Amino acid sequence: TTFSSLGLAEPILRALKEEGYENPTPIQAQAIPELLTGRDLLGIAQTGTGKTAAFALPILHRLNAAKRSRKPRSARVLVLAPTRELAAQIGDNFEKYGRHMGVRVAVIVGGVRPGPQVRAMAPGVDVLVATPGRLLDHIGERAISIAETEVVVLDEADHMLDLGFIVPLRRIIKHLPAKRQNLFFSATMPKEIGALAGDMLHEPAKVSV
Ligand code: AMP
Repeated sequence: TTFSSLGLAEPILRALKEEGYENPTPIQAQAIPELLTGRDLLGIAQTGTGKTAAFALPILHRLNAAKRSRKPRSARVLVLAPTRELAAQIGDNFEKYGRHMGVRVAVIVGGVRPGPQVRAMAPGVDVLVATPGRLLDHIGERAISIAETEVVVLDEADHMLDLGFIVPLRRIIKHLPAKRQNLFFSATMPKEIGALAGDMLHEPAKVSV
């Protein structure tokens, strides 16, 4: 398999070439075609398998195919991550793979002043990468809206459980529109995570590596 045979758009292929990526990893080869059809996805994968690109590339393809004006305070795509470090890495990956597309990315995490985050979100973004607690604060303050978000990714769901994020996650999900694409990644499937996946996902494609 090659990235171009997966049908990814030219600006994305160009960025991958510049990164020196020659071939998709197994999770990318399995997940990208499913995600390009708009299906939900359940991915059982650890960090280091290339899972970030497995979701970032088809999401960027979708943003490139259906260009829309950004709405104030809104995010077209929401990626939820358990830690600040992971959120920052995911944000960097979207910037890197999307650099020929003019994609606007924001990373919103706890432990820093909220004011600059409110200003960064004011014009709206294509991709918002956030940790659950701080995102919920901003939603409560009406500084961020996810009411029109088209795609949501939950990364390292089992780690979210360990950190006590299941209640805030369920609150966040209530603010999303009913019609959306859901991507759910976890390295393991404890009972609570299986239940959350069952509630969030609609006839998901399943990939595991
Ligand atoms: P991840 O599992 O998303 O944390 O990715 C692990 C590492 O593999 C990151 O440093 C990526 O930049 C790199 N990577 C992801 N996909 C590919 C690929 N298809 N070819 C080469 N490197 C890759």
